[in-house]
Amino acid sequence: MLRNKTAIVTGSTSGIGLGIARALAHAGANVMLNGFGDAAEIEKIRHALGTTTSGRVLHHSADVGKAEDIVAMVAATEQAFGAVDILVNNAGIQFVAPVDEFPGERWTAVQDIVLNSTFHAIKAALPGMKRRNWGRIVNVASAHGLVASPFKSAYVAAKHGQIGLTKTVALEVAETGITCNAVCPGYVLTPLVEAQVGAQAKAHNLSRERVIREVILAAQPSRQFVEVDDIAALVIFLCGDSAKSITGAAIPIDGGWTAR
Ligand code: NAD
Repeated sequence: MLRNKTAIVTGSTSGIGLGIARALAHAGANVMLNGFGDAAEIEKIRHALGTTTSGRVLHHSADVGKAEDIVAMVAATEQAFGAVDILVNNAGIQFVAPVDEFPGERWTAVQDIVLNSTFHAIKAALPGMKRRNWGRIVNVASAHGLVASPFKSAYVAAKHGQIGLTKTVALEVAETGITCNAVCPGYVLTPLVEAQVGAQAKAHNLSRERVIREVILAAQPSRQFVEVDDIAALVIFLCGDSAKSITGAAIPIDGGWTAR
């Protein structure tokens, strides 16, 4: 379905991004992986994906908190594959603290890695998409892009910002073959959330199971984690031709969280 298309997925060495990268590769796209981790482990993922799918798979080690790294990654992808047709801005980090105790440098890091990276990547990839009159930009925002929770000021602000940027870009390119959307997952059991489960279990002296049910999934009416593969399937749909009229949307995939 996406044969001859090339995708960049930021933060795709783990969790949701890895699931999206896998799905894009299995749909036939060339994929530029990105993200941190053990070099041998990343190479294993890259090699396995590249040899079991029809496209080619590479990895770029850009730190998306740095604009110049993002520009270099987009240029390297265009050089290697000839284009960036699909851009998935997925990399993200979390930090939890009351706003009056929030360390300034953590605030800046969350804005850089979640929001500013999305701007820099879109800015770098859009000219090529405009030239080819085709493109799909999918920003992995969050239910926290639509509603807030206490102690997550930086993350909630960055995710709301990502959705505002999504809408603006969608309007700017609305008459072209390019769409720009956000997907807004609820809780997904990835390393990012595992860290929060561990921290909450310690803080409240509760078992892992009770923290998941009574703290983490308290906001999620389904009381089930969202599955990575379901988010990946939504992204694949947004990349297809049937989704050409969906643009500027922020699509919840959150077990009912934002329906409240
Ligand atoms: P994760 O921690 O499993 O993966 C994050 C990925 O981002 C990793 O590949 C990591 O190496 C990469 N990364 C982090 N900082 C980076 C940087 N500076 N440069 C390049 N790569 C960097 O997290 P996840 O849960 O899969 O989250 C992925 C996205 O989904 C994030 O934007 C997150 O905010 C969002 N999200 C997650 C959940 C959830 O419950 N897990 C819910 C809603 C939204």
